[in-house]
Amino acid sequence: MITLKSPLSELKQVGAAKLTKLKRLGITDIASLLFYTPFRYENYVQRDIASLQPGETANITGTVEIISNRRARQRKMIITEAIVNDGTGTIKATWFNQPFLAKNIENGDEISLAGLVQENWGQLAMTSPQYEKVSSGDKLHTSGLIPIYHSLEALSQKQWRAMIAQVLPLAAKLPDWLPDLIRKELGLPTLPEAITHIHFPKDKNELEQARKRLAFGELFLRQLKMAAIKQEFSTLKAIPMAFAEEAVKALVDSLPFPLTQAQRRSAWEIIGDLKKSQPMNRLLQGDVGSGKTVVAAIAALNVIRNGYQAALMAPTEILAKQHAASLKKILSPFDISVTILTRTSKEAPGDFIIGTQALIQEKVSFDRLGLVIVDEQHRFGVGQREEMLAKHRAKDSISPHFLSMTATPIPRSLALTIYGDLDLSLIDQMPPGRKKIITKIVRGDERNKAYEFMREQMDKGGQVFVVCPLIDPSDKLGVKSAKEEYERLGKGEFAGYKISFLHGQMKPREKDKAMADFAQKKSQIMVSTSVIEVGIDIPEATVMAIEGASRFGLSQLHQFRGRVGRGDKQSYCLLFEDEEIGSKKTKDRLEALEKYDDGRKLAEIDLKMRGYGRIHGLEQSGFDELRIASIFDYEMIRQAREAAYKIISADPSLKRFPKLKAKLKDLYEFPLHLE
Ligand code: ADP
Ligand code: MG
Repeated sequence: MITLKSPLSELKQVGAAKLTKLKRLGITDIASLLFYTPFRYENYVQRDIASLQPGETANITGTVEIISNRRARQRKMIITEAIVNDGTGTIKATWFNQPFLAKNIENGDEISLAGLVQENWGQLAMTSPQYEKVSSGDKLHTSGLIPIYHSLEALSQKQWRAMIAQVLPLAAKLPDWLPDLIRKELGLPTLPEAITHIHFPKDKNELEQARKRLAFGELFLRQLKMAAIKQEFSTLKAIPMAFAEEAVKALVDSLPFPLTQAQRRSAWEIIGDLKKSQPMNRLLQGDVGSGKTVVAAIAALNVIRNGYQAALMAPTEILAKQHAASLKKILSPFDISVTILTRTSKEAPGDFIIGTQALIQEKVSFDRLGLVIVDEQHRFGVGQREEMLAKHRAKDSISPHFLSMTATPIPRSLALTIYGDLDLSLIDQMPPGRKKIITKIVRGDERNKAYEFMREQMDKGGQVFVVCPLIDPSDKLGVKSAKEEYERLGKGEFAGYKISFLHGQMKPREKDKAMADFAQKKSQIMVSTSVIEVGIDIPEATVMAIEGASRFGLSQLHQFRGRVGRGDKQSYCLLFEDEEIGSKKTKDRLEALEKYDDGRKLAEIDLKMRGYGRIHGLEQSGFDELRIASIFDYEMIRQAREAAYKIISADPSLKRFPKLKAKLKDLYEFPLHLE
């Protein structure tokens, strides 16, 4: 007997070749096949032949009066022609190079045709219509809303439909994990109904309902996960940290600049959280260069003055080192030991430990950890924040306070979906006196002028970044690689200048050397791949040149641009684009960068133009879970959130919802403590 867990090999007409192709799409058993939903539908309305107008798309059913093959006069083409009569009129159907049709379909057969209606010499006609014999049962291919699957060359549409129709009765067995009370309140169909209808909807309304149910389900699970984390957090205890007023004031006074209003507000919110006996769980969001580091330093100082340790986790070795250097400087007036912990440099933990993922991977123990800060948190997998917490949660449920920082600017509905379990502090203001970075698209014939300009900048003491899309040359793409550029520029345009080279596959030691050389001005040019993007601070850098600029997303280009203009000198961003800028979209995108310097504005434009999946920095945020739901459906996100909180607060362990609990565990591997 075939069940949801049966392998696909038990299905009719699924052989080895098909199996491999399906497997590549992630379809391995009946259940995964049922969840392979159509991406669009054809709508073939049933009609009488007499009522058809040329130009319409329709479905007709009738008797084949005559069907035969003939050879076209030119070329070696076989044409199959049929006349079909439904009692109200006749229509002629024509197919090319499918001679077997004249064998499969016989005179007198009842067939159903679907396609575009045309008129030829006064005779209604369809060219290459979809067809099926009515005797074969339900009309899967020609009548009503017909599902179209992303086939990715795996199967023909007919094969998809036949295969799915074969297993569809098993949809009734799918466990519906959405609690009934939620489902009924929102008037949604059950999961079995939704899956059945998403494949073969009776009408548009049924399809709409099915879609709603599946979309809601996706959002609900995600919100539930966040609600569960938040719930768990609320049961945790943390050490309340008194406001170390004197120290914090001294730090602020020691800075060479006054804090912006937004920095003050954020720091104040954090200090407020730290006072509580529940762990802080806050996201600090602020554009590149908005000054998040100082705020982090204030938080750390406050905790350290209470007698506890702080840890900061950065996504790369380079960043960790740079953070360590700048935090050491900021905290130098205080008697605090700032230490580093990465795969290659291991210092004994001090008051403030700065490191990479080694902080969670290595067997380090902190005996007095009071605060964990994660920089550019989107760069870490979704579960890592939880992992870090799990690791440091003591047996008596005492957790450190938690602060995430990100420069990825996201709209509100996205924030709720990605960071729904976090409180938010926003640095929505840049330090004063920053000069706007002058941004310019550089076409092929302006290249030499651009190099001349870069040399001038360097001769005045400035430094230059050159970012390339690839490490190694690739013939296929015709895109500049970092390696080629490094060699070419050294011999050519930038002969006589010192160049550093950096890419992600270098050994940590080599990376450090390249970065250190550039930071200490031993080199004037840094040629690199996109590894340079986050957080690197080189105050003397005044030019950011980006090769193949159109290959990067707007938000990512904005991040690159944020590497310059960190000092007080006027800085520049050059977007190299050799090829004629093809589409208007690409042109608009690059021009948006010339025009705007606000990361949020650019993210919004990117979102509209490329979709949320492409916003740089969200790659790992788990959006691939959302296959049907839209991130723009703010109302549904709100409903899902409300429903999730209702369930989790009524039954934190989900004991009354075993199917839901199983589904959640299945979906998220991180250690959710639902016991
Ligand atoms: P990000 O938010 O991108 O991490 P940083 O914390 O690295 O930004 O700060 C960028 C630069 O701005 C640093 O050189 C920092 O010293 C400086 N900075 C931070 N806050 C201010 C301020 N209020 N006024 C002037 N400069 C500031
Ligand atoms: Mg930073």
